[in-house]
Amino acid sequence: MSLAIETAESGQRVRTWAAPAKINLALHVTGRRADGYHLIESLAVFTRFGDRIEIAPADADEFSVSGRYAADVPLDGGNLVLKGRDALRQAAGVRSTPPVSIRLEKNLPVASGVGGGSSDAAAVLRGLTESWGLELDSAELARIGLSLGADVPMCLAAKPLVARGIGEELSMVPDFSALGLVLVNPGVPVSTTEIFAALSRRDNEPLPPLPRSIDFHSLRNWLEITRNDLERPALAMQPAIGRALSWLDKAGSGFSRMSGSGATCFGLFETGNVAKRAAAEIRDRQPDWFVAATRSMASEAGRDGQN
Ligand code: ATP
Repeated sequence: MSLAIETAESGQRVRTWAAPAKINLALHVTGRRADGYHLIESLAVFTRFGDRIEIAPADADEFSVSGRYAADVPLDGGNLVLKGRDALRQAAGVRSTPPVSIRLEKNLPVASGVGGGSSDAAAVLRGLTESWGLELDSAELARIGLSLGADVPMCLAAKPLVARGIGEELSMVPDFSALGLVLVNPGVPVSTTEIFAALSRRDNEPLPPLPRSIDFHSLRNWLEITRNDLERPALAMQPAIGRALSWLDKAGSGFSRMSGSGATCFGLFETGNVAKRAAAEIRDRQPDWFVAATRSMASEAGRDGQN
């Protein structure tokens, strides 16, 4: 799937860039660096559902936000969209970086374990590199991304991958088919710092080896022998996360788990259509929760069936 869509608006060249949700299918905390950053091993995928970033030429820099979660993000320089724009401008040095209008459609719940801010920053880096005609290779973009957040390099890759280190050492998973997923967030705040602080141990074993080819069945078996080490402390702080997991199970999920530091949980479904039915059922019973049926993006060699 291309991450860019081109449209023309009153003669202006407008490009829309997808900022997918990042789902940590498994996340093991394996250590801690001297500077306090935690070392992790995580299998992550990226979904078709996500935020959207629209970029158009303008007379002066502009930034606006729309969407269900617009009120939850800063409109000033604290927004990762603007941090991404400014970091890229700085990296461009003497090269021309004319003013741009950036619109963020904030569809992903904020601070919810699906990396929305990091994905927005990655989409802006990708989009402005193209708009400004900057010739930066993927390693340079990843370096700029890492200066904005540990998860930005993986969001730049946006393919099934294993992340190690603090999240910046990436290995692509070559044969990973698209998955049907339902994302559920019960709307409770979770502090990433508090969750990491509450871990009872930080020297857990690394991820087991992945199956050679990953589809619904092989993944489900592999997930059974992995964990999200952040789930237990998050459940203790926010019992609503347990209710979100139960709803996914009741709606027929083949496997349910929390992503990142929560509170968003995912359910794995054999097809996109089954996922849609399950999402409708949960939405019906929990109308205030965030519930989205989506599919993950396959790797180059993985199957990307539409069902
Ligand atoms: P992760 O899974 O990487 O921990 P997350 O989903 O938990 O990420 P984000 O939604 O990326 O968290 O938000 C983290 C913080 O960044 C929030 O406190 C939020 O105010 C701030 N922030 C700045 N810009 C954005 C943005 N564009 N979208 C979301 N959050 C943003």
